[in-house]
Amino acid sequence: MEAKKFFDLYEPLKDELEALSKYIYENPELGNEEYKACVAHTELLKKHGFEVEVGYLGTPTAYRAEFDSGKPGATICYLAEYDALPGVGHGCGHNHLGTVSAGAGILLSKIVGEIGGKVVIGGTPAEETCGGKVTFANNGAFDDIDVALISHPYDKDEESGTSLALNPLEFTFTGKPSHAAAAPEKGINALDACLALFHSVNALREHVLSSTRIHGIIKEGGVAANIVPERAVAQFYVRTTKKLYNQEVTEKVINCAKAGALAAGAGLEISQFEFPYDDLLTNQRLQKALNKNLNEVGITNISVPKGPGGSTDVGNVSYVCPTIHNHYCIFAEGEQTYPTHTREFADATLKAPALEAMRKNVVALAMTGADIICDPELLAEIRAEFDKETAVFRK
Ligand SMILES: [Zn+2]
Ligand SMILES: [Zn+2]
Repeated sequence: MEAKKFFDLYEPLKDELEALSKYIYENPELGNEEYKACVAHTELLKKHGFEVEVGYLGTPTAYRAEFDSGKPGATICYLAEYDALPGVGHGCGHNHLGTVSAGAGILLSKIVGEIGGKVVIGGTPAEETCGGKVTFANNGAFDDIDVALISHPYDKDEESGTSLALNPLEFTFTGKPSHAAAAPEKGINALDACLALFHSVNALREHVLSSTRIHGIIKEGGVAANIVPERAVAQFYVRTTKKLYNQEVTEKVINCAKAGALAAGAGLEISQFEFPYDDLLTNQRLQKALNKNLNEVGITNISVPKGPGGSTDVGNVSYVCPTIHNHYCIFAEGEQTYPTHTREFADATLKAPALEAMRKNVVALAMTGADIICDPELLAEIRAEFDKETAVFRK
């Protein structure tokens, strides 16, 4: 479809989209407290004819907005984020990100009457902390979605890559207190069990893939040096490049904890202290479809990411539906750039180059949605890739 048609449709939306991003920048709210942002998003979507459910899946600041053409066709989902960071406000640029997603959805909704299909915007809170997308992915929010797209502001244009699968494990060892000098033989040392866990994990590092990251802390390790520690608590993040391998390493780490408990004679409880994140499974066919439209709107210098750094809740989405999570540059060519999670990055989201990036990326994302609706073969290719990549997880 012609880029010009989409740019023409963007013009009347320009002011309200820029105002939405600015309002959220001026009112930064931490994860799961994004009440103002959620209202601002959903009011705008309602104004453009979307049916909106606020408090989606029991999370007060989550929403689902839907625009149904009533005609057959694919369902395209854009994922919006709008949480801020402590101290640096919208240093990750989620004011911009959420607006681009909402904008792409609104733009696409203007033509589904013509081409069919459905547009969904998923308002997913708390990306920086407790991953609202995990709740979406675990509760069937993507069952009726054909593809999910999310584009993140950044210091360069970059294709969707990978992220690390993450398992947040908490180990609680329970011993028996006793006088550490007068009757140590009557005590069971929970801290010894915990230290044995750390030693075993350090030995384990040599025998896992070198891309694995296992990092932990001792949260509790006793209350006084003259009492045999009754309770010790350790938290670990187990990170691997793949979800399947994470399960394997997790089992080994758990065995290290069990060995520590056995050695000390302590009790052991194991839990997850946060949501586990899956690695990001980029749908390459979908990225290719977006690249074509990015080129069309004049974004041509798109780099390929080197490898995973952190972890993201978009990973969980990518295991239940074909997904991409690419990055777009909000700086002008040759201009000084800043990394995310800085105040300078937050400020840059309001400047002219970022507003131009908004215009182009909203158009490219909407065009990609339209392409998928109009070309069932493209959707079939995207789906086939997804089915192949996730086959191992289906019975
Ligand atoms: Zn961030
Ligand atoms: Zn972010």
